[in-house]
Amino acid sequence: MREAEWFVKSDGGWKCMLCPRGCTFREGAGGRGLCRVRGVKDGIPYLPGYAECVSLSIDPIEKKPLYHFLPGTVILSTGPPGCNLTCDFCQNWTISQSDDVPTRHVPPQDLAEMAMSRGSRGIAFTYTEPAIWFEYIADVAPLVRDLGGAVVMVSNGEVTHEPLESYIRFTDAWNVDLKSWSPEFYGKHCSGSLDAVLDTLKTLAASRCHLEVTFLIIPGENDDPEEWREMAAWLSGNCGRDTVLHISRYFPRYRLRREPTPVETLVSAMKIFSENLDHVYLGNVSAGYSDTVCPSCGAVCVDRNGWAVDTSGLRGGACASCGQELDIVHEL
Ligand code: SF4
Repeated sequence: MREAEWFVKSDGGWKCMLCPRGCTFREGAGGRGLCRVRGVKDGIPYLPGYAECVSLSIDPIEKKPLYHFLPGTVILSTGPPGCNLTCDFCQNWTISQSDDVPTRHVPPQDLAEMAMSRGSRGIAFTYTEPAIWFEYIADVAPLVRDLGGAVVMVSNGEVTHEPLESYIRFTDAWNVDLKSWSPEFYGKHCSGSLDAVLDTLKTLAASRCHLEVTFLIIPGENDDPEEWREMAAWLSGNCGRDTVLHISRYFPRYRLRREPTPVETLVSAMKIFSENLDHVYLGNVSAGYSDTVCPSCGAVCVDRNGWAVDTSGLRGGACASCGQELDIVHEL
């Protein structure tokens, strides 16, 4: 059994330091943390979710979503059977919030080899919350990189600072959810912490990793234009004007029941965020708003039509028309 990291002794029991939740396990008591993939058994920290993979499939990298990292490629995608948040609008709740998720046991070497087969450019840890899978990712990632592949994280950003610094050493690209600009939203809907996510975003933006951000707009919950303006200014000031933002359309799932986000709301948000950010895209809408347009000359550099991606408007990571650098990672 793989040794669990990030547990510390606490009042005779154990505390998990991997995410801000800080689950504690009393002396002599066992059980799993909120995320279900880490816990304590017979007085020793253990990893019941280690190498237990959900939903293994090869997806377009645009589906993660990542638009400025190896555009037009596909990537093997999987995740652990749990999450450290309890979002009542979770779009993947059947695999993130259940005690009984079907998994496949895949040892690290096997996953690394799968990640470099069938045209895949590496591995994306996604679907649920990969940051809680530290030990498995730490074992898989170097193997994938030795084979020339990329390691991608699609995360809610709820991870403590020290483990995040470790992740940065063996991962290449992240998409992080920024679910709201309101701390109350994080408490009410997710049992999470906005501050933790902001720290993750700032740390990643200053790191060697590529960073993109996703914002799911839920009608009546996080659709205040004033909050959007503050969020856009913060992202631009702390992560850079060239930070890629994906604004995503909500559909009712799990416990929260609202109407799907009107497309006009998404378009209005796109305009507001675009005042501070150069690359804003809409996701979960049927057409349009997903091309990469050169902020300098207006040429279409990456044309997206569903999952069909045409990168002929790029030369390397720059606009083929005017040469403007676009911060697009086109090779590893
Ligand atoms: S990673 Fe899991 S066990 Fe650790 S503190 Fe977070 S929810 Fe609890």
